[in-house]
Amino acid sequence: MFVDSHCHLSFPELAGRIDTIRAEMVAALVDRALCICTTLEEFEQVHALALAYDNFWCSAGVHPDNEDVREPAVEDLVALAQLPRVVAIGETGLDYYRLNGRSVAEMEWQRERFRVHIRAARATGRPLVIHTRSASEDTLAILREEGGLEARGVFHCFTETREVARAALDLGFFISFSGILTFKNATEIQEVARMVPLERCLIETDSPYLAPVPYRGKTNTPAWVPHVGRQLAQLKGLPLEDVAAATSRNFEALFGVPRS
Ligand SMILES: [Zn+2]
Ligand SMILES: [Zn+2]
Repeated sequence: MFVDSHCHLSFPELAGRIDTIRAEMVAALVDRALCICTTLEEFEQVHALALAYDNFWCSAGVHPDNEDVREPAVEDLVALAQLPRVVAIGETGLDYYRLNGRSVAEMEWQRERFRVHIRAARATGRPLVIHTRSASEDTLAILREEGGLEARGVFHCFTETREVARAALDLGFFISFSGILTFKNATEIQEVARMVPLERCLIETDSPYLAPVPYRGKTNTPAWVPHVGRQLAQLKGLPLEDVAAATSRNFEALFGVPRS
């Protein structure tokens, strides 16, 4: 059995197809998924999925790319994190990839928002789901400043260097690999996947985005997470069953979800 540790089932590409997606998950031996929140406005819809299905859980947080949305205070996130089946804070972090003509200095609002999420994670003991793109130095620096060792979490959809992976592991974080791991040109990430100990690896789809080979370019779904697991197993020279079991146990340990 496989777990999709990061998907966006509330996004319009997927929200109307939940029954089909769930049937495909069963057929693909994907028994659980974590539904990720990206705005406070979206939370209710993401939470409804986790309440409706006993193999879905959800997070609470505001994605760094979302600008014209309600800004969360620590208390907002702490309150949401107390609700049933909310098991993580995020996704949060920094994204300097889409600066749209602004300088990194002008992105202070993103850094402040990230600090708010870390404080909420520390206050509640809930793990962080971290998104970092073209911003790894600041992401790590802020994590350390805000007591990252006491916050636990995962660097999701990992696309950074070995050094960044090393630093994340040193902070006690997990590393989650997405369909990018199956892309031919993703040699650096494949190197990282060989290096990260299996007991710190998670797998995810980030659906509806980043469909793995052989579905690259299509609308992704949690049912395709085994393709990420298969690639990870190949890179590590391990049986697929071992990778499926370990990433499932890691998911349970990080998010405090009961064993299946
Ligand atoms: Zn992300
Ligand atoms: Zn995401």
